[in-house]
Amino acid sequence: MRIGVLALQGAFIEHQRAVERLGMECRQVRTRSDLSGLDGLILPGGESTVQGRLLSEQSLTQVLRGEIEGGMPVFGTCAGLILLAKHISNDESVYLGTMSVIVRRNAYGRQLGSFCVTSDMGAIKDFPMVFIRAPYIERVEGEAATLATVDGHIVAARERNMLATSFHPELVSDLRVHEYFLDMVRGRT
Ligand code: GLN
Repeated sequence: MRIGVLALQGAFIEHQRAVERLGMECRQVRTRSDLSGLDGLILPGGESTVQGRLLSEQSLTQVLRGEIEGGMPVFGTCAGLILLAKHISNDESVYLGTMSVIVRRNAYGRQLGSFCVTSDMGAIKDFPMVFIRAPYIERVEGEAATLATVDGHIVAARERNMLATSFHPELVSDLRVHEYFLDMVRGRT
């Protein structure tokens, strides 16, 4: 089983380390050919506008959209969630647009740029959730389901092969959210 992490910008090394700590290979993805033979892909946090532009410059947008629509398991964190969203409520842009969620970018404002709370994500109890200029999900639609809320806002969701969190599980030593994603990948392969 081989996992990829989109490595155009942002916190991709931390995801790679988390996957490797779980005993799995992880390949950095920068070009179309890096996508071949992958069983799952992580879209890291960072800056969604920059990542979106680089995806398009590398001619990766369409091909990635096709892979995800074809069922490849994908896990977007923070900016990665923004890339997956069908609609961004405070921005005109749509990047991959495969996931039936409406997100708000920089939703916590500048006052509360970064914070950490311990909360549950379904069966994953007391997970340390690190938020950095994070989006949250205003609404899930279609087959998308809420997995976690913090202060009444949706911070994790799943739709079929797509998992997304507002927070950064790659920045903590607790690997349970990555394990959840790897279980999704195993379910398919
Ligand atoms: N604020 C960033 C954006 O809008 C996301 C922040 C993050 O990924 N930590 O793209």
